[in-house]
Amino acid sequence: MSIWNLSAGTASVARVKKIKSSGPPTTAYVMLGGKCRNNCRFCSQSRDSQARENMLSRVTWPPFEASDSVTAIKDAWARGDFKRICLQVVNGEKSWSATLDALESFKKDRSIPLCVSGHFDTVEQARELIDAGAERICIALDAATPGVYSMTKEGNWEKRWQLLVECAAVLPGRVTTHMIVGLGETEEEMARIISYCVSLGVTVGLFAFTPVRGTAFADREPPAIDHYRRIQIAHYLLKKGHGLDSIHCRDGRIVNFDVPRLPGILADGRAFETSGCPDCNRPYYNESPRGVMLNYHRPLLSEEIRQAILESGIVPGTES
Ligand code: SF4
Repeated sequence: MSIWNLSAGTASVARVKKIKSSGPPTTAYVMLGGKCRNNCRFCSQSRDSQARENMLSRVTWPPFEASDSVTAIKDAWARGDFKRICLQVVNGEKSWSATLDALESFKKDRSIPLCVSGHFDTVEQARELIDAGAERICIALDAATPGVYSMTKEGNWEKRWQLLVECAAVLPGRVTTHMIVGLGETEEEMARIISYCVSLGVTVGLFAFTPVRGTAFADREPPAIDHYRRIQIAHYLLKKGHGLDSIHCRDGRIVNFDVPRLPGILADGRAFETSGCPDCNRPYYNESPRGVMLNYHRPLLSEEIRQAILESGIVPGTES
């Protein structure tokens, strides 16, 4: 019997578990593979983590039989409750075969966009995932610089970056990466790497570092809200075609955006919504429902837009 872990919100929307949810996911998040062989110091699934086994970030992932999960996710897709499936593959012993099996389960339903976020080492493997039915692949760089990478993850930043560059070239428009804000990089370094990704056509999913009990970084602070808002704005402007030179920094911190009518550009609030693959909203992945919303999983109310802009500390007003 094969077991999949669904995020609690996914299980609720797929109606396999009754959980009170104040923010339904629009993507079905499925965690595959056992205990991870990697040792990312922020991750609850890492080799040395003492966090609860069914955690990833601050979300719980209850286990379900794979075939029940497939049926429930397909039904939810047919109802219009999910618009995408995301396989979050932990780098365990059987993760590659588990990924291919999962892709096979949805093979007859090619219209469901499916992305695979996992550990693979070659462009050929990325191609194999696409050929097996993935619409997109995600190579999570997580760290903005080689220095931050070496303090938080095992392996080699340059190698992961090179793989990302090569995959972006051979699979245009089908590559995503994750960047975690608040691992020790400066705002300038984060803006720069996002800019490189955007120029390669790589989609960036922004995450805020989230301390999780039982992980090596449990006692670290998440990024301050003003820091995170400035990175969200920088990311949004870069995606909209503004250059890195429009983001002015001093001592590593963003101090100004040299963009005409900026409050008007930000007035729809999209800069502060969850970013990444289309229809990925990751409700409460980085924040408590009772705390400050770092990534809004839904369109913002006008008061929330005003507040988020103010929180950036450098953009005056919301009037254009
Ligand atoms: S951006 Fe969202 S859907 Fe895409 S790989 Fe990351 S978590 Fe999955």
